[in-house]
Amino acid sequence: MLDGKVAVVTGGTRGIGFATVKRFLENGASVFLLGSGEESVGVAVAKLRAEDPGYQVDGLWPNLSDAAEVARAFGTVRGRYGRLDVLVNNAGIAAMDSIYSYRPEDFARIMDLNVTSVFTCSQAAARLMKEQGGGVILNTSSMAGLYGQSTGCGYPASKFAVNGLTKSLARELGRDGIRVNAVAPGVIDTEMMAGVPETLLAPVVARIPLGRVGRPEEVANAFLFLASGMASYITGAVLSVDGATIG
Ligand code: NAD
Repeated sequence: MLDGKVAVVTGGTRGIGFATVKRFLENGASVFLLGSGEESVGVAVAKLRAEDPGYQVDGLWPNLSDAAEVARAFGTVRGRYGRLDVLVNNAGIAAMDSIYSYRPEDFARIMDLNVTSVFTCSQAAARLMKEQGGGVILNTSSMAGLYGQSTGCGYPASKFAVNGLTKSLARELGRDGIRVNAVAPGVIDTEMMAGVPETLLAPVVARIPLGRVGRPEEVANAFLFLASGMASYITGAVLSVDGATIG
């Protein structure tokens, strides 16, 4: 579904991002995965190359909210392949802080990674995509970006912002042939979820109509579809992949 395409996936070292990198590789794409440091990026790239030595996969670890570092990283992608077809803005952190004790620096930190990085990476990608006549930008939102959550308000605030960027950039970039969509996962079995206290998680899981949490691969499948030509008339959408979970 992605033969000959070049993709960048942020937060590609594990969880939903890693599953998406793998799906893209299985479907013929060349991928640069972006992570938070040299070691985790190296491990993820080595793991994928060990699975299939034919996979075209590399890694970089720019500070994602620093526009200059991001521009350099995307320059490396262009230097290697001459183009960029798909960007997945997936890197993100969660929050559980109560509003009564939430430290302003922690609120700023989550906005930096979950929102500013979507802006910086989308800007760098859009510049390349416009020049080549089109592309696809995809964002990882969350069901918390539709319903809010009862603690850690910075997280839903950041994901509502991701939805706003998705819908606005879809309108701004459509004429340049660039589609912009988001996927809003529900409860997915990753390290991020492993950090959520059982007392908070159990009532949410009990309300999942499909009766189970989701797998990273099930989110990756949605990204594959939206990245592909099968989704050629879909832009500005926020696709829930949540088993119909009620926030
Ligand atoms: P995860 O913690 O397993 O993975 C997070 C990824 O982000 C990792 O690759 C990590 O290296 C990267 N990352 C973290 N800090 C970074 C930084 N400062 N710079 C660069 N990369 C950084 O979590 P996950 O569940 O796979 O989350 C991926 C995305 O999915 C996030 O945006 C998250 O908000 C979203 N999401 C997850 C769930 C869930 O239930 N797991 C639900 C809804 C949305």
